Amino acid sequence: EVVVNRIAAGEIIQRPANALKELLENSLDAQSSHIQVQVKQGGLKLLQIQDNGTGIRKDDLGIVCERFTTSKLSKFEDLTHIATFGFRGEALASISHVAHLSIQTKTAKERCGYKATYADGKLQGQPKPCAGNQGTIISIEDLFYNMPQRRQALRSPADEFQKLSEVLARYAVHNPRVGFTLRKQGEAQPSIRTPIDSSRSENIRIIYGAAISKELLEFSHRDEVFKFEAECLVTQVNYSAKKSQMLLFINNRLVESTSLKAALESVYSTYLPRGQHPFIYMSLTLPAQNVDVNVHPTKHEVHFLYQDEIVERLKEQLEARLLGSNS
Ligand code: ADP
Ligand code: MG
Repeated sequence: EVVVNRIAAGEIIQRPANALKELLENSLDAQSSHIQVQVKQGGLKLLQIQDNGTGIRKDDLGIVCERFTTSKLSKFEDLTHIATFGFRGEALASISHVAHLSIQTKTAKERCGYKATYADGKLQGQPKPCAGNQGTIISIEDLFYNMPQRRQALRSPADEFQKLSEVLARYAVHNPRVGFTLRKQGEAQPSIRTPIDSSRSENIRIIYGAAISKELLEFSHRDEVFKFEAECLVTQVNYSAKKSQMLLFINNRLVESTSLKAALESVYSTYLPRGQHPFIYMSLTLPAQNVDVNVHPTKHEVHFLYQDEIVERLKEQLEARLLGSNS
């Protein structure tokens, strides 16, 4: 059974960046205003995330790493909402099957913090009292120590670090009220640091550079027919880069949509020289029940109801805004 669980967990957590995404979402769900990530060897040796959120109650430490354990059901109105993006309560459980996992946490109500370690979904021994501020530190060590082939198949620590940076950067742009840092252990300067109570355009400047942020066009669009809302920050047609960047969130979850990306890029292709690309940040809000519930945590490609129509509308919007800002 342990092996079956490990294989299933390895499907969900395929590399450090998948784990980071889940951990960032947990810290954001816990109302943190400050999230600090430290890594060793691209997250393969150590991936540690510290937040100042609600913390986890001592009594819950025994079950947080069991499959399907989630404290988040009460937030949702009905089962369709729970099923959105599926896989509730599986992230910590999965991680504990493929790495050494420990949690140090303190809630506002408890007098001291507690530290707990996990293996294969189970708490090891009893949580130990410890000092600490309110919030949670989750440490993941030796990812895939028990899956040597998986560990070997991963790219270099430098590549994994690049992926971690991409994920953190995107969440930082999407959540500008929260301060994020990403640091390689032992290095004095963080690789990424955004302030608390920032703005999306300011975070884009900090992370992606002044050249992009100077050319940003910001707009939002609300569509009553297909029931969606979009908030966008995109470069104008006098900006271009060799590499295209598309930061897409749907209902606050980082996802990819090949059809949307292609449609938006095609708008630019009329204006930009061949081989030159825009920077596009887009946050879409859709009725939860319209987003494909079968999406797998590692299959970032997302599908949603009225996809073709929505993509077409967004394309039209972008076209109009780019022209409007240019004339
Ligand atoms: P889910 O997020 O789907 O509930 P997870 O496996 O990611 O499932 O987390 C399990 C539970 O652990 C969460 O529901 C939450 O109660 C708790 N938890 C995890 N990370 C944090 C955190 N950083 N702060 C507070 N609670 C957390
Ligand atoms: Mg989670």
